[in-house]
Amino acid sequence: MTAPAHARTSADLIRAEEPVLAHNYHPLPVVVARAEGAWVEDVEGRRYLDMLAGYSALNFGHRHPGLIRAAHDQLDRLTLTSRAFHNDRLAEFAERLAALTGLDMVLPMNTGAEAVESGIKVARKWAYDVKGVPDGQATIVVAADNFHGRTTTIVSFSTDESARAGFGPFTPGFKVVPYNDLAALEEAVDETTAAVLIEPIQGEAGVIIPDAGYLTGVRELTRRKGCLFIADEIQSGLGRTGRTLAVEHESVVPDVLLLGKALGGGIVPVSAVVARREVMGVLGPGEHGSTFGGNPLAAAVGTAVVGLLETGEFQRRADDLGLVLREGLEALRGHGVTGYRARGLWAGVDVDPALGTGREISERLMREGILVKDTHGSTIRLAPPLTVTADELRSALGTLEKVLGQAG
Ligand SMILES: *Cc1c(COP(=O)(O)O)cnc(C)c1O
Repeated sequence: MTAPAHARTSADLIRAEEPVLAHNYHPLPVVVARAEGAWVEDVEGRRYLDMLAGYSALNFGHRHPGLIRAAHDQLDRLTLTSRAFHNDRLAEFAERLAALTGLDMVLPMNTGAEAVESGIKVARKWAYDVKGVPDGQATIVVAADNFHGRTTTIVSFSTDESARAGFGPFTPGFKVVPYNDLAALEEAVDETTAAVLIEPIQGEAGVIIPDAGYLTGVRELTRRKGCLFIADEIQSGLGRTGRTLAVEHESVVPDVLLLGKALGGGIVPVSAVVARREVMGVLGPGEHGSTFGGNPLAAAVGTAVVGLLETGEFQRRADDLGLVLREGLEALRGHGVTGYRARGLWAGVDVDPALGTGREISERLMREGILVKDTHGSTIRLAPPLTVTADELRSALGTLEKVLGQAG
C-alpha cells in the first residue's frame, strides 16, 4: 500500500516521480513542502533561502500576505466565467495594468508562452491589416540565444538545439539576428517585417544585458522602418531590475509588451499582452481567445500585483539590494567568479569552470541551504524574491564564497 503523502520522505517522493512524470526537467534533489517570503522548507523541515524565486514568478516572495488575501477573497466570490460573459474584476485589472505600463489595451492570457504567441498573432495581423504586408509574408525578427517559451512556434525561432531538436517541422516567418547588434537588425528589417521581438535583458541566456543605447536604437529603428517593437518582459519585468519594466532603464516604450511570471503573484498563471490601441485594435471577436485568460481569480491576483508595483516599493528594493548583490559579486571576482552581469536584484554569475559546472555549484549551494539554478555551462542565476533582506542576501553571498572556496 502507498504510504500517505505526509509520511513520505524527500527521497521517497523523488523516487516516486521517476516512473510517472515526464522527464523534461532535472530538478535539484529538494522537495519543497511549504514556503513563506524568501524561504522554503522541505519535507524534512530543512529551510532554504530561495535565490531563484520561480524564475522571477515569485518577485513578491512566497505567499505574499496581500496577494494571498486577494486570492482568498476572490475564491470566496467567483473564480471563472469564461470570456463568454463579463466578470466584475477584469476592467480594473486592465485599467491599472495599462496605466502602470504606459500603454493602452490589455489582452489577458495565462502562461508566458501564450502571451508570446498572442503577441506574434497581433503583430502579424497588424502587418496585414495596417502596414499592408502581402498575405502570408509577414516576418518577425528575433535575437539569437533568445528564450520566449516552449510552444512549437516559439521553439521554431530558438537557437538552442536542445529546445528544437526533434520538434520540427517549424513555423516559418522568423529571422534571427545576433543580440545587441543594431547593424544586424538594420539589415534584417525590411518591408515584410511585422515586428522586432526581443528580451530587454536575456534571462535564460545568462542575464545578458545589452549595451547602453541598444534598446533606444531598437525603438528608433522600428519606428523609422515602420514595424512594431515587442518587448518580452516576462522575466525582466515587474520590479526585478529596479524598475517596473527593464525598458525603463532607457526610457523606451515598446509598441507591444509581454508580461507573465510575477503578474500571477506566484499563485496563478497570469500573462498579458499590453499594447498601443492602434495595434491591439486589429483583433476582433472570435479571432483570438483563451478559456481561462482574464478569469476573475487571475484578474484579482493580477490587480493586487499591480497594486504592489504602484507603490514603487519593490522597484526601490530591487535597486537598493542590487547594490548589495553587486558589491558581494565584485568581491568574488577572481575568487571563483570569472565574471557577472547584474541589473537590479538579478545576476548571471560565471563560475570558474575548474570549480565545477553550474549544476554542481547549485547542488553544493543546496546542501548549504541556498536554492539557485544554473543556466548554461558554469553560469548560475541569482534572482531572489524582492522581499529578501540585505542580511539574507549577504549571508547567501557568503555561502557562495564558501562553496567556491571548497570547490575544485
Ligand atoms: C519564462 C519565459 C517565457 C515563457 O513563460 P512560460 O510561463 O514558462 O510559458 C517567455 N519569455 C521569457 C523571457 C521568459 O523568461
